[in-house]
Amino acid sequence: MAIPKAELHLHIEGTLEPELAFHLADRNGITLPHADVQALRDAYSFTDLQSFLNLYYELMDVLRTEADFHDLAEAYLTRAATQGVRHAEIFFDPQAHTNRGVPLATVINGLSSALDTSLQRHNISTSLILCFLRDLPASEAMDTLHAARPHLHQINAVGLDSAEVGNPPEKFTEVFQAAADLGLHRVAHAGEEGPADYIWQALDLLGAERIDHGIRCLDDPALVTHLATTQTP
Ligand SMILES: [Zn+2]
Repeated sequence: MAIPKAELHLHIEGTLEPELAFHLADRNGITLPHADVQALRDAYSFTDLQSFLNLYYELMDVLRTEADFHDLAEAYLTRAATQGVRHAEIFFDPQAHTNRGVPLATVINGLSSALDTSLQRHNISTSLILCFLRDLPASEAMDTLHAARPHLHQINAVGLDSAEVGNPPEKFTEVFQAAADLGLHRVAHAGEEGPADYIWQALDLLGAERIDHGIRCLDDPALVTHLATTQTP
C-alpha cells in the first residue's frame, strides 16, 4: 500500500467483480447464467487464455449504459487507490460492446466520466487505451478507429488484444499507421501465446512503444537484446 504504483496493463472490463456484475445485471433486467455471487466467483478459475476470454466476454453483457461503464471504472479506481496505485493506463475493448449494440459514445463517455475525476477523488492519474480485437478483421478495427475520431481528446493510445495465435500484428499495420497519423500512442499485446516473431512485427510494423506480455521474447535472444537496448517495456 505504501509504495506508489503505476498500473500499465489493466483491462477495465476484466476488473468486473462478481458483486458488481450481479448489481448491473439486476439494474438492466438481465439474468446471468450463474446462480449467485459465489457461483460466479468459482467460475473465475481459468485454465488458459481462451477459458478466461469466454467468461470475460460473457460478463460484458451487463454493461449497457454510460452509468454501467462509469460504475465499472469507479469501482476499479476505488479499489486501486487502496493498493497505492497512483497512475493507471487503462485498456478497453470497444468492439466487444459495439458488436452487441452498445454505442461507442456510451462506452467512452461512461469510462471517461469516472477517469475525469480520478485525480481529485483517488489521486490516480489515468490514460485510456482503445484496443482492437485482433481476432476480428482489420477492416473492423479501421471502422472502430474512424468511429472514435470524435473522442480523440478522451483517448491516449491504441492497443491490440484478444486471441493472439493466428492473428499476427502485421494484419493491423494499416490501422496502426492511421492511429499514428491521428497522434495516438501505440502499444500491442504480442508474444503472450504467439511466437517471438509477433513481437518483432508489433515493433517494426505497428510502431508499438510497449509490448504487453511479451514473454515469448525469451525464445529469441536477439529480440531480448533489442528490447533492452531500446528500453522497450
Ligand atoms: Zn492484456
